Amino acid sequence: MPKPKLVVLSGAGISAESGIPTFRDANGLWEGHDVMEVASPQGWHSNPELVLEFYNQRRKAAINATPNRGHEILAELEQWYDVTVITQNVDNLHEKAGSSQVIHLHGELFKSRSTLDESLIYQMSGWELNLGDYCEKGSQLRPNIVWFGEEVPLMDDAIQLSKKAEIFIVVGTSLVVYPAAGLLNIIGPEVPKYIIDPKMPSISSMPNLFLVEKIGSAGLTEVKELLLQSYGS
Ligand code: NAD
Repeated sequence: MPKPKLVVLSGAGISAESGIPTFRDANGLWEGHDVMEVASPQGWHSNPELVLEFYNQRRKAAINATPNRGHEILAELEQWYDVTVITQNVDNLHEKAGSSQVIHLHGELFKSRSTLDESLIYQMSGWELNLGDYCEKGSQLRPNIVWFGEEVPLMDDAIQLSKKAEIFIVVGTSLVVYPAAGLLNIIGPEVPKYIIDPKMPSISSMPNLFLVEKIGSAGLTEVKELLLQSYGS
């Protein structure tokens, strides 16, 4: 028997308990910066040094971060389910916890990419990327992050996967960043949808919706128990 397909959409909130701050909670400022200044193509063109430094600091903060109970539970659920995590997070805590299928919709903090040829992507070993760091074709490297206003190349994969979900979990996202937030609306009416967030985002009513107003670790502990109680029935 194939394992039931469980799809998770995670956001910055799941990493909050690992000490990585979300940004909506800080009045839309990300570590004191307007997001358009540090996470948009315009920001990059006007001040690449600031953008590189911003992501250097995010990497420095994330490099020693460890997954929390929420990340661990999602990895454990692979014993019973075919789990795919679609994450808006750029940190690598799902992988560190052991999740084997992770789609990074908004890119990855620990990868850099060429500004000339976006197929040239490099794994980073440390936390620093600076002006003068070049790709193999001699062009400046930038963070491999999908910035506001840029295409989300993995969105189609995320849509196809979500359409096949038999269970859908949303955890730690304010559901305001599109197109990721729209995934919830394409899930079939018969599919159980669990939304976990300590400050529940506003969601239009839909069938089989379960709101769990808790932080990630506590909410996922509850949802795991519920899932295993009804597993196979
Ligand atoms: P967001 O900052 O817009 O929203 C965070 C959500 O997490 C809020 O709804 C908040 O109530 C909830 N939250 C706060 N503490 C929580 C906890 N302990 N457990 C569970 N939920 C908690 O985040 P978003 O929706 O992911 O969108 C923000 C964008 O910013 C993403 O595109 C992402 O790429 C980027 N970002 C990433 C990281 C990261 O990689 N860890 C961190 C900050 C921002």
